[in-house]
Amino acid sequence: MPAGEVVAGSVLHAGRLITQIENGRPQARPVLRALAPYCGRAQLVGVTGPPGAGKSTLAAALIRHLRGQGRTVGVIAVDPSSPFTGGALLGDRDRMAEAAGGDPGVFIRSVASRGASGGLAAAVNDTVDVMDAMGKDVVLIETVGVGQGEFDIARIAHTVVLVLVPGYGDALQAMKAGITEIADVVAVNKGDAPGADQTAKDLAAQGFERTGPDGAERWKVPVLTVSALRGEGVAELAAAVDEHHAFTGATAWRAAAERARGRSRFTAFVADRLRGELLKAAEETLGDTRPADPYGAAEAYVGALLNAHRTLSADIPGTEQK
Ligand code: GDP
Repeated sequence: MPAGEVVAGSVLHAGRLITQIENGRPQARPVLRALAPYCGRAQLVGVTGPPGAGKSTLAAALIRHLRGQGRTVGVIAVDPSSPFTGGALLGDRDRMAEAAGGDPGVFIRSVASRGASGGLAAAVNDTVDVMDAMGKDVVLIETVGVGQGEFDIARIAHTVVLVLVPGYGDALQAMKAGITEIADVVAVNKGDAPGADQTAKDLAAQGFERTGPDGAERWKVPVLTVSALRGEGVAELAAAVDEHHAFTGATAWRAAAERARGRSRFTAFVADRLRGELLKAAEETLGDTRPADPYGAAEAYVGALLNAHRTLSADIPGTEQK
């Protein structure tokens, strides 16, 4: 599949490539490598939060707002539950499609892992590259924020919007750890429902801050009330996201995040490849024999492998000093 078609914005070719990524097809690799020079332009925005908070509705509202500004949009709806629930955790995708309304400036895909090499996070990273190379100005990554794995995926984005709803009570207490860990911007959605302003006020009073990679820079996490349904507060939310993006770009923050993203993609891919290849090799080495001391044999085998690895040149092409 020619990478040129993807760069030219072909939805058909991009869609096929993403399916190959999800299924861990090796033929996706060379295409992704060919796309690399076209990546790095898109602004990546994570939208995460508990089921029912209104993430899909908010994504739809953001799509409309961004299109109104003339910016093209890619949306990755991350499906952590597939294949077990068929993605029942995610909200109505139709809402986003409706917001797009056949607009060629919007490309929406849901992504599941289905055996992707390196798991779901790797599939999302690769899908971001596809949309980035297609020339999408903004890529929204929608995840269900229910666990650490989803937080890790949300962190692929430059800016993470945590979507909450009013009157969360005890659950909100529990979310506070998540807020400090993940949120760059908090959106209290359903601002048309009672209690939203109070919830936003309570959260704002917490004074959430994020600390930069060198510990010096601080970002004060804004808490905004929005109504995704009515489109109220959406422009302000988008402005806060852009402000955060400009802030991290002007500090050491963005470069550190990009470095971390590159390193984790490298290690995930190495881990995935090594696991498959080396396990096969180990079993071949074992042949028909039965180790009397499995742990001891495993230790000795891994030790021998590591020794062999140390004698190899550790030069990794395509890497640069930080
Ligand atoms: P998701 O699971 O987080 O993606 O949530 P959805 O976007 O599917 O929304 C869940 C429900 O909340 C739907 O019934 C929406 O219509 C409703 N909803 C979303 N945003 C708002 C809002 O701003 N106000 C109100 N009243 N309801 C909303």
